[in-house]
Amino acid sequence: MNNHVTVLEIDAAALNHNLNYFKEKLQQNTKILAVVKAFGYGSDGVLVAKYLENKVDYFAVAYTHEGIALRDAGVKTPILVLHPQIQNLQDIVTYRLEPNLYNFKIFEAFLEFADEAPLINYPIHIKFNTGLNRLGFWHTDIPVIIASLKKTTHVKVQSLFSHLAASEDLEEQEFTVNQINNFAYIAQQFYKHLGYEPMLHILNTSGVVNYAKAQFDMVRIGIGLYGFGNDDTETAQLKNTHNLKSIISQIHTIQPGETVGYNRAFVAKRITKSATIPIGHADGLSRKLGNKAGHVIINGKKAPIIGNVCMDMIMVNVTKIDCKEGDDVIIFNTQEMLQNIADLSETIVYETLTAISPRIKKMLKQ
Ligand SMILES: *Cc1c(COP(=O)(O)O)cnc(C)c1O
Repeated sequence: MNNHVTVLEIDAAALNHNLNYFKEKLQQNTKILAVVKAFGYGSDGVLVAKYLENKVDYFAVAYTHEGIALRDAGVKTPILVLHPQIQNLQDIVTYRLEPNLYNFKIFEAFLEFADEAPLINYPIHIKFNTGLNRLGFWHTDIPVIIASLKKTTHVKVQSLFSHLAASEDLEEQEFTVNQINNFAYIAQQFYKHLGYEPMLHILNTSGVVNYAKAQFDMVRIGIGLYGFGNDDTETAQLKNTHNLKSIISQIHTIQPGETVGYNRAFVAKRITKSATIPIGHADGLSRKLGNKAGHVIINGKKAPIIGNVCMDMIMVNVTKIDCKEGDDVIIFNTQEMLQNIADLSETIVYETLTAISPRIKKMLKQ
């Protein structure tokens, strides 16, 4: 039981709004896969999945144990495991997870496993590399894959998919369109020789924003569900889902010349009131936010972080803020605040969100 006072509230209405925003961009029969990997982008994958389970067609996680956590919580929706390993095959089947088979090593191992079990028409997904050069078969592998699939009734290809390398970057439009066209060609070859037609999908959030025509049968939405469209106008249409709050643990009044925090990094020039907040770099707040780079909000006012960010705490300047120990603190509750933290941390919001530590308490606000 996590009774931490630093809490990430996941806004259910915002998740719903964001899901509907993307649904409206799509044709009615296009399926939606909600990406809930990495604890639902730093929130809570189980809470998000339980909330979305009757609103989406599929979930995706990166690793097998993330899928197991969803099944243990009673999620019944199909779950695609994007990056399974050979060591996970038994767990995948035990928990009715659907593996992405991305190279011959795992493809053959899974087919062998399915033959031995034996499984019947077990859903698998096959990923093709169309330019990201991360995971996936090459188009030249198709004949060998098809030959193996023709010999078995123990698995059934549920989908063929690929992933775009730069869907958010319109300067890479030519490359992206090429990826999409190559994927369409791969699918056509596959269909011709397989004898049935698995679902197709290639778009992530910014793929839907920029290349909606390539929605095929399903789209995979991650960051968009959590309020970011990788583009300011899109993000403005979305709602923030991650709200991080804490409280003031202690207030100190310090005299000119006294210092605050490790390495005495903040030196008071005048009488200063500092507030200590129970969140630190172990919780995902970058040390780059220290020394007045970042701020929190207390009673509606900005309180700059003074001194270095500690592992478990930050100290903020509340000299001009009417506040007391126990008062609420907002670390972030808007996309602008999150984007600002990402910018100051010299990273992207994907990392700022997923850096939120499991130590922080997570709650779904309905
Ligand atoms: C993480 C991931 C997604 C989701 O991407 P967003 O940009 O967050 O929408 C989709 N597909 C794959 C293969 C992924 O790894």
